[in-house]
Amino acid sequence: MRVGVLAFQGDFAKHIDAVAGHGVDAVPVRTPEEAGRSDAMIIPGGESTTIGMLCDRFGLLDVIRNRITDGMPVFGTCAGAILLARDIVGSNQPRIGVLDISIRRNAYGRQRESFEADIDLSSGGTFRGVFIRAPEVERVGGEVAILGALGDTPVLVACDGIWAATFHPELTADGGIHARFLEQARQRLPGRHCSRLTE
Ligand code: GLN
Repeated sequence: MRVGVLAFQGDFAKHIDAVAGHGVDAVPVRTPEEAGRSDAMIIPGGESTTIGMLCDRFGLLDVIRNRITDGMPVFGTCAGAILLARDIVGSNQPRIGVLDISIRRNAYGRQRESFEADIDLSSGGTFRGVFIRAPEVERVGGEVAILGALGDTPVLVACDGIWAATFHPELTADGGIHARFLEQARQRLPGRHCSRLTE
């Protein structure tokens, strides 16, 4: 399985290292052709407006959106989660927009701009979440599952093969979340996501 990591900005190299340990080909993606060749993709953190603008300029937004609609699994972390969200509160910035959630950018304010906290996983156990100027998921659509939460707030959500985390799983030594994403991605190929994407 070839996992493309969008590599315009942010800590894409850490994601490449994180998935490379799981027996997949991890490759940086900067062109529509590279996105088209990926079996699954990771959209890393960074600045969602910048990443979205660059994707738009280089013709990647439509290609990635179409690949996802055709069933390509994708994992967006932090800014990547913002780019996957259908609704970004108060913003009309360019986005992929395939995941039925509402997300608020920079939701944790100045005092807690960056923090670490143990996330409760729906599968049991916890995961150490690193939050950096993180967004907050304010609404999840009916087909979206909450896989991880911090208190009452969803921080890891999924609609079939479309996964989004508001924290940075690539910054901790625990590769468990990447492993779970890749495991379901492998089982899904070739596959379909939520019915509403393909209606
Ligand atoms: N605050 C950034 C944004 O709104 C996201 C931060 C991150 O990816 N660590 O795009």
